[in-house]
Amino acid sequence: MFPPIPNPDLKAATKFGEKDLIRRSASRVAEPAQKLTPMAKLIDVSKCIGCKACQSACLEWNDLREPVGFNDGTYNNPPDLTPTSLTVMKFTEWVNPETRNLEWLIRKDGCMHCADPGCLKACPAPGAIVQYSNGIVDFVHENCIGCGYCVKGCPFNIPRISKADSKAYKCTLCSDRVSVGQGPACAKACPTQAIVFGTKDEMKQWADGRIKDLKSRGYKNAGLYDPPGVGGTHVMYVLHHADQPEIYAGLPRDPRISPLVEIWKGVAKYAGLAVMGAFAVFGVLHHAVMGPNRVTREDESAAKQLTETQS
Ligand code: SF4
Ligand code: SF4
Ligand code: SF4
Repeated sequence: MFPPIPNPDLKAATKFGEKDLIRRSASRVAEPAQKLTPMAKLIDVSKCIGCKACQSACLEWNDLREPVGFNDGTYNNPPDLTPTSLTVMKFTEWVNPETRNLEWLIRKDGCMHCADPGCLKACPAPGAIVQYSNGIVDFVHENCIGCGYCVKGCPFNIPRISKADSKAYKCTLCSDRVSVGQGPACAKACPTQAIVFGTKDEMKQWADGRIKDLKSRGYKNAGLYDPPGVGGTHVMYVLHHADQPEIYAGLPRDPRISPLVEIWKGVAKYAGLAVMGAFAVFGVLHHAVMGPNRVTREDESAAKQLTETQS
């Protein structure tokens, strides 16, 4: 019923560059003449067996080594995302109040690649966060100043600041692989096709098929998680209980960019520019009326005396 989805067509792939940017933090970009097709990764929670092949593939592809940590009494390992674990499986035991059955909900956590990314909006460093026209949100580490504003701006609590180099890290949606026509490493490694990758339209069609199948098996609330509050996402979930996303390790029901970020980028930014402008005008007027600031003979002799008494 669901044949394997091949990698995207290599011939159609191009290297991502400045020409593919639709957003760049703290700066403007020219609208690209030609936009890439929106891509998406679909994670079908109902097919995940929690094997963590995706998590291992991510470490392997990105050449990351997670330091030995501690066991928090769950299968989550490490317990949460880190600068060196860009994706982590989150395991939740949930008692279904209707059936009284214990359900084991397993969700792959990581960046959702929001169409309207709060991280990018909050970032004050020019070019530290970019969004390509296919929807992928990428961090450009050489431009990152480690201020942590992206963490505050993200409604999914995703970026992590590294103690080693004070830079922010998160899943790249394997932009390096996608740019040459390969699917993400995690999707390639998944043995059950719980993770599939393709155009966003294809992924929505694929999700429709899965949701019909789940509904036919009694999951009447099965649905797609593609939250409109952030303009939709380029990582989507098929959930068997889509009416309660929060039971999947706290997946937000209606994620939105914090109003503080909107203020920081809107009113506060323009108020700051207005204050700077007022100081500049004051400086020019002061110079015109009072003339340049000169050091008088008295000032010079007082300074000389002070230097001599201190030496
Ligand atoms: S999930 Fe967070 S880090 Fe990822 S694109 Fe959205 S706002 Fe940015
Ligand atoms: S898309 Fe790439 S970077 Fe993101 S979780 Fe999968 S393997 Fe890791
Ligand atoms: S590889 Fe697939 S089945 Fe295994 S944990 Fe990841 S998503 Fe689940």
